[in-house]
Amino acid sequence: MTASMGGTRFRLFPAYAAGYAEPETVELSLPPGTIGPGPSDPWMYAVHPLRKADPYEPPSSMPPFRGPTYPPALPGPQGHFDHIPTDAPEFLAAHLYGTVRHTLDIWEFYLGRKVVWWHAPRIPRLELIPFVQWQNAHSGPGFIEMGEKPSHSGREQPFCLNFDVIAHETGHAIMFSMIGVPAEGDVSEPFLAFHESFSDLIALIGVMEIPSVTRRLLTQTAGNLYVLNIVNRIGAISDTEQVRLASNTRTLADVVGLHMAPDGSWIDPTGQHRNQHAIAEPLTGAIFDGLVELYQDGLAERGLIPPEADARGWSRAEVERTMDAVHSTSAAAWARFAQGFHTALDDARHIVARCMAHVILTVRPETLSFPIVAARFLEAAAALGQTRHLPALLDHFLWRGIDPRPALGIAVAPGRGSPRQSASGEQRGRLYVAEVPNPGPDRACCDAFAFIAAHRLMPHSHRARPG
Ligand SMILES: [Zn+2]
Repeated sequence: MTASMGGTRFRLFPAYAAGYAEPETVELSLPPGTIGPGPSDPWMYAVHPLRKADPYEPPSSMPPFRGPTYPPALPGPQGHFDHIPTDAPEFLAAHLYGTVRHTLDIWEFYLGRKVVWWHAPRIPRLELIPFVQWQNAHSGPGFIEMGEKPSHSGREQPFCLNFDVIAHETGHAIMFSMIGVPAEGDVSEPFLAFHESFSDLIALIGVMEIPSVTRRLLTQTAGNLYVLNIVNRIGAISDTEQVRLASNTRTLADVVGLHMAPDGSWIDPTGQHRNQHAIAEPLTGAIFDGLVELYQDGLAERGLIPPEADARGWSRAEVERTMDAVHSTSAAAWARFAQGFHTALDDARHIVARCMAHVILTVRPETLSFPIVAARFLEAAAALGQTRHLPALLDHFLWRGIDPRPALGIAVAPGRGSPRQSASGEQRGRLYVAEVPNPGPDRACCDAFAFIAAHRLMPHSHRARPG
């Protein structure tokens, strides 16, 4: 959907550290001529400080930035921003703005509505700071700002060139605005973990909307998504250093006992100093497995892979044991039917994104739990005509220790048989919502201090590590 929208052109690095020598041209939703110097639009603006020593610390330190700045990135004569050399300071601002806007475009499409920033009554526009002297990146009330961090090779990695980090922070901003936060003092572990998981997945869907990324992904894996790939290295800062992995094998059993103390610090009984990012992994993994499930089904349905290479429903041990044979079969099919593989992946991505959007539109911050998230996800899949996949999708959640059945508004039996119809019948064409949909951007309550309190509880693994 990002291609050929007739929008303003920007150049983005889908994975700066993973070998993209040149950025990829992407068209944003806004037409040429509507994005001004900065870049800026009515919802956000980039401003590049000559020097910003410290990150914002709300409420004492907030936008707007008032110090000296680099000249703004300027549109070319046709209104595009794709003429800016990658080594110009203006490129950093354009890249940050372009990535935030690209991510927002995609999710406004899936959400079916404009995202109104939760801070809009006080701070109407989001300020984007491409560089602060800080080994970190964050999104808070009225801002997203990026620092930089050396990779193990010692090469500086400005986060404003890192698509995943930017899109992840944009994900937080979207979810803060769509879902809100619990009252101060009521922020739960599942709420924080959900925010991290969905911010990662928002970034994952966002990067997969860039055609060269899926092309590269399928080429590298020969169509076999069970193989480690560039897209699931969320937040990759080099080819080998991975911050988080979507295709993780974590389950909730791995994080039993991990909890937050009343002061916001984390207590990890295993002594590994983990926090909500660890709790997020089973949810991220289940949804990533669902994406692969739908993709594999698309291949099988199109007759692109023979049954003996269709690893769905196999145990993990079986998958690992037969990986080489499955991979070579997949590679042979990929060589002949590349377009079908692309279509299958596009379709799978759309379904997962629409299910995620339904979750974002219907969960409430004060009652959020992984079973409820999974239930809303499955109900959306059913409404999208994916009923036959529900048992397999349910299995992926159950394998992670997430049991949505008590919260499900439809009946689904685990395993790969046909799901039973619910008493009320409807599984298709209509979203069943067991909870009142969240008030979203029009909600009346917008307690800035609750947002600031929630933001403080969100440390990031792409941020500075001790030492
Ligand atoms: Zn985060």
